[in-house]
Amino acid sequence: MRVGVPKETASGEHRVALVPETIGRLGEGVDVVVEGSAGAAAGFTDEAYRGVGAAIGDPWDTEVVAKVAPPTQDETARLHDGQALIAFLQPLTDAEGVERLAAAGVYGFALESIPRITRAQPMDALSSQATVGGYKAALIAADRLPRFLPMLMTAAGTIPPAKVLVLGAGVAGLQAIATARRLGAVVSAFDVRPAVREQVESLGARFLDLGVQGEETEGGYARELTPEQQAAQQSELQARIPQFDAVITTAAVPGRPAPRLISADAVRAMRPGSVIVDLAADTGGNCELTRPGQVVEVDGVWLDGTTNVPSTVPLHASQLYARNVSNLLQHLAPGGELKLDFEDEITRACCVTYGGQVVNERARQVMQAAAAEAESGR
Ligand code: NAD
Repeated sequence: MRVGVPKETASGEHRVALVPETIGRLGEGVDVVVEGSAGAAAGFTDEAYRGVGAAIGDPWDTEVVAKVAPPTQDETARLHDGQALIAFLQPLTDAEGVERLAAAGVYGFALESIPRITRAQPMDALSSQATVGGYKAALIAADRLPRFLPMLMTAAGTIPPAKVLVLGAGVAGLQAIATARRLGAVVSAFDVRPAVREQVESLGARFLDLGVQGEETEGGYARELTPEQQAAQQSELQARIPQFDAVITTAAVPGRPAPRLISADAVRAMRPGSVIVDLAADTGGNCELTRPGQVVEVDGVWLDGTTNVPSTVPLHASQLYARNVSNLLQHLAPGGELKLDFEDEITRACCVTYGGQVVNERARQVMQAAAAEAESGR
């Protein structure tokens, strides 16, 4: 079985789907073809790939393609019937892209759809990349703040620690909490899932009670709040937010635009020199004033809307991603041969296109809803 690794083409994408270390571990029966300079932006040279036995060549003429970002239209045109593709495919938000893959006869495996079960954890790329994003968000906040994070007792006097608030304490939020704590900040956090309080406290942060409690789905994700709950959350936050020097927001609901937590008025209530790092910028942002992809200043408050933050730590983000991909690959193709067992929960959940059809139930529902919306708008 040949696995192709294209060079990523999305703007600002520095990651690569397989790194030399993981290729070395794929085992017998798997040959890897890497596009020239595919790993360069993440620090992996063509020589390093050759050193573990990979060929440098055309990654599309293979049985399996491993990518990070969803394929563009041109890239999909290079895929062929019966070829497998492992990547982030945005099955809940990119109906067109998924349909294009189905039409091309591609077996599409979306890393977003890996189920959140213990057995699948080594393949969970959403978690590995959220870990990178959460870590980097704390560093961005520290870098942008005009003050220290830790308390410092110096001959020139004592400096109090910075106060950091983390909104959304899933994988990224918990890593942001841990990183800000290691840098010495006093950290508070909030999440709508009640189970999170204990996790927040175990990291030495304070759980900020906003009096709003949401629900958790079977998969461990949050359900979207009602408009009333959202309004209550925003107004409670507006009252509390001026106490903080930095706010890191990571709140998300799968397949939905990022929930709005911080209103424009709440930003204006913050002290000049404060910072908001909005990790949810990729899906519109948790703050009303976030400009995805930009860093803007509003009345002295910095709003960092950097998108695709994991790609700014490309070496380790790629290394973790590559381990997720190789674990999935070994699951789907044990011994170097694609053997799809649709009785298996992992295979069934992450396979979004097969035999010319969209086979993932959630993705199909989203597509039908989008088609119905388009129809009613006509
Ligand atoms: P996510 O990226 O979808 O969301 C991030 C966080 O935002 C979540 O904690 C969510 O509760 C929170 N959120 C949503 N709306 C909010 C709002 N209005 N206000 C404040 N917070 C809001 O989630 P995630 O980080 O990918 O994962 C969520 C959880 O799934 C994890 O904390 C974990 O418990 C579970 N998980 C389980 C496994 C596993 O068992 N294999 C793997 C990964 C994650």
